[in-house]
Amino acid sequence: MSTSAAEATKLASRHLRGTLAEELVEDTTDFSADSQLLLKFHGVYQQDDRDQRRVRTQAKQGLAYSCMVRASVPGGVLTAEQYLVADTLADKVADGSLRITTRQGLQYHGVLKSDLRHLIATLNEELVSTLAACGDVVRNVTCCPAHLPGRSQASLLAAAKGLAVTFRPDTGAYYEVWIDGEQAVTVSAAPVTQPADAPAGVEPLYGDTYLPRKFKIGFAWPGDNCIDVFTHDAGIVPIERHGEAGYVVLVGGGLGQSHAREDDTYPRLATPLAWVPEADLSDVVRAVVLVQRDHGNRDDRARARLKYTIDTIGESAFRSLVEARLGRPLIDPVELPPFTDSQDHLGWWLDADGRWVLGVQVPSGRVRDTDDVRLRTALRTVIDRWLPEVRFTARQDVLLCGFAAEDRVEVERVLSSHNVPMADALSGVHRHAIACPALPTCGQALGEAERVLPQVADGLHGMLVQRGLGGIALRVNMTGCPNGCARPYTAEVGIVGRTKSTYDLYLGGSVGGERLAQRVAVGLKLGDLPGALDPIVARYGAERLDGESFGDYCHRVGETELATLVPAPPPRRGKAAVDEAD
Ligand code: SF4
Repeated sequence: MSTSAAEATKLASRHLRGTLAEELVEDTTDFSADSQLLLKFHGVYQQDDRDQRRVRTQAKQGLAYSCMVRASVPGGVLTAEQYLVADTLADKVADGSLRITTRQGLQYHGVLKSDLRHLIATLNEELVSTLAACGDVVRNVTCCPAHLPGRSQASLLAAAKGLAVTFRPDTGAYYEVWIDGEQAVTVSAAPVTQPADAPAGVEPLYGDTYLPRKFKIGFAWPGDNCIDVFTHDAGIVPIERHGEAGYVVLVGGGLGQSHAREDDTYPRLATPLAWVPEADLSDVVRAVVLVQRDHGNRDDRARARLKYTIDTIGESAFRSLVEARLGRPLIDPVELPPFTDSQDHLGWWLDADGRWVLGVQVPSGRVRDTDDVRLRTALRTVIDRWLPEVRFTARQDVLLCGFAAEDRVEVERVLSSHNVPMADALSGVHRHAIACPALPTCGQALGEAERVLPQVADGLHGMLVQRGLGGIALRVNMTGCPNGCARPYTAEVGIVGRTKSTYDLYLGGSVGGERLAQRVAVGLKLGDLPGALDPIVARYGAERLDGESFGDYCHRVGETELATLVPAPPPRRGKAAVDEAD
């Protein structure tokens, strides 16, 4: 859908209603183009099985449509009861898996149109919403999930949940379409917070056309960048100033770019805007969102994120606009301590309340049973028996929180009886590698990611072992297109789909996520990746400084020299993929 068409559809939708209710009861397997756009605001992406696309098209059959449904989970926190209901739905209405997203949300894949209402209504009964999990609005608010000693985790999580509520769309359409079911077709049900005589409702914050594009907010603790705070439109870090509690607010992060528009689309890390007293946080972030609403690019969706607004008008002018909207001057940001780590919070650790937490690695966030590893059953068994709080991480893993010391042996026995490894049994590549879903479900995917990550990780680990470096941690982030949902541009090793069978290689991101990786090779075949990295790894083994990570080494050497070491084929152009990612 073109930019202008998208804006027109939003405007005409009567605040996200459109014809969704009518189309839901039609005897078809897909939605109209307008409804597909509006569905995103409700947390639903229409997709088709791309493995079947060619055959079905040749056979003149309709495409195999189903939907991806994403739930917002602020801070990634669910109760055990919520998780167990979510797990049950995976069999009833999806493909038998749950997928933890890179922003601590929860996704279902393979949901038929006829099952959407049951899925969304049942999640809402458990107080889990899909509203605004996608679309041109503030998305799920992320927050470091680790309640470590010395951290006021409850207050940070409360702040994250507070912003999630502040920026939730005010439309009643969501409840009309999904919760009231049949009534929505014939009766204009009263919106949740709006007068009953206003069927289209009002959106006091977003207005009639919502934001130009998605807007991401995340909270990180100083020094621990497990949520990749610099990749957010608004990244928030708690830090005192002259003894007063508050936050540094960073703005303008975002990773998506387009192969077809390498001249004017690019990844950008968020930059400091202000230090904000605790009580003012919501007002300041609201002012940033409203400036983006009113000044963001609505003519070109490829350049509609906040990062382009800031770079177009300049950081100083942007700050002035925020101050004007806020009605008072901003306080200059205080300097943050370096982010020396992005902890994965895996394995056993004691939380601030003296309860045990177990972090379990979930490959690419996919909670499912395979012939070898029955991860989904293992997690369900542990959660059903001990009722731990469940927390998702932004590296797509799961934390089970609140065990007593005496539970640990039995919990580990349950996991090992289902072949689920403890984190310390994983190699440094397998533990840290993540990938986006890509094929066969994502309509933007140019190449594979999640489905091939195991073999990519095996190949890279094998190469490291050959070089005597099998013990190092290596953060590998892989995506099927340049939209960057699995954040390849902040990884030590970023692998980005260029065509169906080739990938670009990025190196040199930092462990703490404070630096962008740089592209060192274009159009590599998947099987060539270990060979392409091998000369660089060999140099790293010989030249690394004491304690130097692979990413820091690559940054020190620089992409120009690294590129000379990679036997890369000539650049090839892939098709554009920039619109509706993540
Ligand atoms: Fe799809 Fe691209 Fe996002 Fe992967 S990075 S999920 S291929 S849009």
